[in-house]
Amino acid sequence: EYHAAEAAGFPDRNNTSPNVSAVVQSAPFNVSNALIVGCHFCGKVGQLSRCGGCKVAHYCSQDHQTVDRAAHKAFCNKVKKERTRLEAQEVTLRAHPGDSDTPPNAFAKGGEGYGRFWGYKGTRPYMKARYLFIDALLLINTKPAVEAALEHALDMLHLNHSDNQGMRTIIPALYLRLGRDQDCYNFLHWWFVKDHLDSCESDEDVMNTEVEYIWGDARFPVTEADAFQPVVGFLKEFFFTLPQLVSLTLVKVRMLIDMRNFYR
Ligand SMILES: [Zn+2]
Ligand SMILES: [Zn+2]
Repeated sequence: EYHAAEAAGFPDRNNTSPNVSAVVQSAPFNVSNALIVGCHFCGKVGQLSRCGGCKVAHYCSQDHQTVDRAAHKAFCNKVKKERTRLEAQEVTLRAHPGDSDTPPNAFAKGGEGYGRFWGYKGTRPYMKARYLFIDALLLINTKPAVEAALEHALDMLHLNHSDNQGMRTIIPALYLRLGRDQDCYNFLHWWFVKDHLDSCESDEDVMNTEVEYIWGDARFPVTEADAFQPVVGFLKEFFFTLPQLVSLTLVKVRMLIDMRNFYR
């Protein structure tokens, strides 16, 4: 397994590979530099309080929040506004009794709406609001903002398996920004298998696919994929999008850099 989280400077989740960590610490660059993990103004980590507006920026002191306000205000207000809109849409959709355009209990797992949002026109205002909320979150360059955006994007994919809004194209990039390269690769691999099965024209084609494709009911993907496998299969896939190919390339480039540092 490739522990890219360490390469990004975040603590190893399982803390199982101290050797890799030591090497990565001496690497000439740190890809997490662009993402703020501490105080939004000074970068200090430790005791921080959360901005009450956007809820995804943190400060070490009242002073720094005040000083930063002029720069942060526009983005913060945008997030707050889009969150309020999204919450209103969610309340409306949850309360809807159901008709030909809107499934009843739309969010209920196993219900007729779950996984089929967007196909029901009544769910679209909610899905659009959620997309715009993600868009607003990504104006703020902090780890909590990107983590929140990723969670929303994954959940939107669960709600709408057809993915009319293209969440599959931004999810790999969000994983990369968080330094979660293995998860990025898992996702790309998982989607690739899905597309491959979708495009199979015969049962024989399906049988020849090595990996079984499963939606899963919690977080996906459900399997750890081997990031060292060749990319040839991905490149043959017609439905693989450019953003997905870019993310795949970046994962491979990071692996190459890490391995060079490791064997240096
Ligand atoms: Zn500070
Ligand atoms: Zn804020």
